[in-house]
Amino acid sequence: MEKERVVIIGSGPAGLTAALYTARGQLNPVVIAGNQLGGQISLTAEVENYPGFFFDDHTPTGPELVEVMQKQAEHFGARIVFDEVVEVDFTKGSPFYIKTYGKEYLADAVIVTAGASPRRLGVPGEEAFIGRGVSYCGTCDGFFFRGKDIVVVGGGDSAMEEAIFLTRFANSVRVIHRRDQLRAGATLQKRAFANEKISFIWDTVVEEIVGNGTVQAVKVRNVKSEETAVLPTDGVFIFIGHYPNSKFLEGQVELDEHGYVITDEMMRTSVEGVFAAGEIQDAVYRQIATSVGQGCAAALQAERWLSERE
Ligand code: NAP
Repeated sequence: MEKERVVIIGSGPAGLTAALYTARGQLNPVVIAGNQLGGQISLTAEVENYPGFFFDDHTPTGPELVEVMQKQAEHFGARIVFDEVVEVDFTKGSPFYIKTYGKEYLADAVIVTAGASPRRLGVPGEEAFIGRGVSYCGTCDGFFFRGKDIVVVGGGDSAMEEAIFLTRFANSVRVIHRRDQLRAGATLQKRAFANEKISFIWDTVVEEIVGNGTVQAVKVRNVKSEETAVLPTDGVFIFIGHYPNSKFLEGQVELDEHGYVITDEMMRTSVEGVFAAGEIQDAVYRQIATSVGQGCAAALQAERWLSERE
């Protein structure tokens, strides 16, 4: 097994930034991309709030930003590997052991940027209808709902952004939210309220997703009146937050009660030589810009840690 200077686990904005910085720092990093190069932004239709990435002729897309970040990191020597981590052993200290489906690695330092995944509702029918009417990604699946009537579950920025995006395809979008107020920021709220195709069902939770081969309806309950109803729909788009992709880190680094990696202000985890950045350790900001900043900080700290050991 060859020993690497730095292995970066994950290829979202935090990972690709850490790759760029450690590559420019002559550390010849390996990035294990995971199941989606670019992570969540590669599934984002429009990126309007990443500074320095604004054009007169079009709104940039997530994949466009990923492509530029990848190109920039590779230009300076980062090696991106399309594989997934299945196991790590950080318990013996540096060099750290990392196993993917295809290979085993030893790394002097590790930067974990494995991100987060969409949270599930956990109701009957949800699992069974994934890909057959249940979706967690408007960009990926919106096209299949051209002229259809769909529901969006959630009241945060993601739910509003996706509901607005989905009106490009769908005939109608009903937002089902468990409270009578949105969590989303003012700008997105305003855009959603102004969109004629979007309506709101307040104080309501989805209790079951039903259909026959594909989704046909959602069973809902009003949490105030306790009234229940069956709402016919062609699709259910669920945007109710995320959970960190940290299963493989259990027992390896300290995690909080929600599974987020605990880091200090220098992006250090509980294991010396293992750093973390982006949504795997940040449940608060979760922006491309903050992940990029954290990825940069983690890379600089990893560089410093490696040079201090020599
Ligand atoms: P979020 O802000 O945590 O919102 C999750 C929404 O889902 C909330 O409205 C929540 O309801 C609801 N919810 C949670 N669990 C539920 C359940 N079991 N059943 C029904 N509803 C449930 O998540 P997010 O929208 O994915 O956003 C995450 C972060 O990314 C935020 O910091 C957000 O600002 C950021 N983000 C920013 C942008 C942007 O700036 N353009 C775009 C997307 C995301 P309650 O409101 O009642 O808690």
